[in-house]
Amino acid sequence: MSKFDFVSIDSSTGGNVLANTQLNRYFINMGFRKNSELVEIIDKSMEGSIVFTTGSGRYNLMLVGGVHGNELPSQAALIKLMDKIINDDINLKCKLHIIPFLIPESTMLNSREYCSRDMNRHAHVDGITKKVVDYAVSNNVTALCDCHTTDPDKKPGFASVFCSVRPFIQSMRIAKQICDDTSSRILPISEAGSVLQGAVEDESNLRGIPAVTCEAVSKVGCIDEGSVEFSYNQICSFLNYFGVL
Ligand SMILES: [Zn+2]
Repeated sequence: MSKFDFVSIDSSTGGNVLANTQLNRYFINMGFRKNSELVEIIDKSMEGSIVFTTGSGRYNLMLVGGVHGNELPSQAALIKLMDKIINDDINLKCKLHIIPFLIPESTMLNSREYCSRDMNRHAHVDGITKKVVDYAVSNNVTALCDCHTTDPDKKPGFASVFCSVRPFIQSMRIAKQICDDTSSRILPISEAGSVLQGAVEDESNLRGIPAVTCEAVSKVGCIDEGSVEFSYNQICSFLNYFGVL
């Protein structure tokens, strides 16, 4: 595994993400299974929640996918980004931390929850989402993008970017750029953590790291046509905000 270093932040969350037939079919169709370094990365998910790092530069950026295991396009979009990095299609000018599958077991099972819990309501307490923010803080991450997918029939139901005004106005500035670039709708709140508690984005903001949550649109548990590309464009826009692509 030459392009990426890796570290496990939880060894209890592992699962075979390729047992998710939707995801596996997409990876085969995209030719990702022919990229041996990428196959190694995908297989690492059997061992738990893995952070992959690459590059260097002024900024230290973090991308997270799979907080909700059944939101497949955003996880596939991070694998697409890693494919491009491995193939030198992208000249990255930052240190990048990528978690393509935060909870591989949930991705394998195509489940929103992990151990009957919505982990995006627990980052302030314990568990794998708190470990993400702990990792980001201890590695001096500059900004974090949590990549999700929304079902068109559920909330929010449209392409969007969540952010907060306080404590970091930068959260809103990043979100605005992503919305301008991708025709997503901005969903700002005044204060991180004031609407609900324990989201990776909110907790990251509260602990000193400007963060946003991106939502692409796809039927839950599925990869709708164009949804991976949409999520990928949101991710690229986040990276472009910092001028690192
Ligand atoms: Zn989600």
